[in-house]
Amino acid sequence: MQAAIAHNLPIKAVGAGHSFTGIAVAPGVLLELDDMQGVASVDLARSRVTFLAGTRLHRIPRLLAPYGLAMQNLGDIDRQSIAGAISTGTHGTGVEFGGLATQVVAVTLITGEGEFLTISDTENAEMLPAVALGLGALGLIVEVTVQCVPAFVMHAIDEPMPLDEVIQTLDERATASDHFEFYWFPHTEVALTKRQTRLPESAPRHPLPRFGRWVDESLLSNGVYRMVCATGKVIPAVTPPLNRLAVQLTGDREYTDRSHRVFTQSRTVRFREMEYALPIENVAAAFRAIQEKVSERRWRIEFPVEVRFAAADDRWLSTAHGRTSGYIAVHRYWRADPTEYFEAVEQICLEHGGRPHWGKLHTLHAAQLRERYPRFDDFVSLRDSLDPQRRFTNRYLERVLGE
Ligand SMILES: Cc1cc2nc3c(=O)[nH]c(=O)nc-3n(C[C@H](O)[C@H](O)[C@H](O)COP(=O)(O)OP(=O)(O)OC[C@H]3O[C@@H](n4cnc5c(N)ncnc54)[C@H](O)[C@@H]3O)c2cc1C
Repeated sequence: MQAAIAHNLPIKAVGAGHSFTGIAVAPGVLLELDDMQGVASVDLARSRVTFLAGTRLHRIPRLLAPYGLAMQNLGDIDRQSIAGAISTGTHGTGVEFGGLATQVVAVTLITGEGEFLTISDTENAEMLPAVALGLGALGLIVEVTVQCVPAFVMHAIDEPMPLDEVIQTLDERATASDHFEFYWFPHTEVALTKRQTRLPESAPRHPLPRFGRWVDESLLSNGVYRMVCATGKVIPAVTPPLNRLAVQLTGDREYTDRSHRVFTQSRTVRFREMEYALPIENVAAAFRAIQEKVSERRWRIEFPVEVRFAAADDRWLSTAHGRTSGYIAVHRYWRADPTEYFEAVEQICLEHGGRPHWGKLHTLHAAQLRERYPRFDDFVSLRDSLDPQRRFTNRYLERVLGE
């Protein structure tokens, strides 16, 4: 950091590089934090654990196990670093549960002037809702303190259901279980639903057998996706029947396992993604509009649309700031051109009050984002005071926050 300041170079910390946007692009010095992993301290009385910023999420369950703790909620995968995940607003699903940044109770960072700054509920507390989800624009995060919960297990039911029925009853379904989400493969009439219920750690576990999990995730989910994507790229007309086959191969399954093993899965097929957060009451209408657009434009979409939920929160740049939210995520195989599809979906989401995920593809600029975030100007002012020289900027941040 000191060397970058001395040479007047911009500096960018990078986590796992799993963002789909250019948010982690380093125009000057790239700071890779893979050696900064692990637990820095534990406050057992309050179930708070401080991690070094580069700690990958998949290491955290093992680090928390000796303390009988777990993270409250997680996204789909666990390859990201804790600092990268919170900085882009990474979230999972569950109307009563916020994204990862809502679990953050303290952050230590180095400001653009090279000063260490601790922000917690007792020190510089007014900055916490900004730095807990700071887009990498407010400083280099050194440590992150997470409010953990007692370790728990989850009962999961994965079940294909008629899509119409799911959309008609979406609000009830979103609230009926702790964590609800569904996938829809375009060109099918089926929603692949996932319902999860939190249970105490003492509840009996019935994990998927190792071989069953391999068949479901490696062979069916990832293997069938790869086949659908690769074949559909060469012969687009086969995409709809292959999607229908993929849905048929995805059967019901029910299991109970440790929370992190239920929240996260392995994803091995490369894709591009755009995701918008909408006020929960607009999700069904936006979903219907996307469905109509896909059939009207006769696109052949090989990847599913994913719908998730999150509680309202107070993080200034959280996609769920101030409103209970539903997320609609669209994907395309990395070899397919996503432009037309993503542009159309983005337009629909914007018309329904959408806010784009900071780590996933979108086209918005600062002026459009300002209208969508009530605390946007407060965030920009804080950036002016913590990084007046713009040491942490890059082209993406210039676009979404201004210069
Ligand atoms: C297969 C896949 C699945 C995904 N699933 C989900 C999901 O379920 N839910 C969801 O919301 N998102 C999901 N994402 C998006 C992903 O969680 C986010 O983009 C996240 O930022 C990636 O974390 P990272 O460690 O790779 O961060 P990076 O992409 O490396 O960095 C992201 C930002 O964090 C900043 N940063 C990193 N470390 C520091 C630091 N120490 N100090 C300051 N700033 C820092 C970077 O500068 C950059 O601005 C998924 C992405 C992929 C590829």
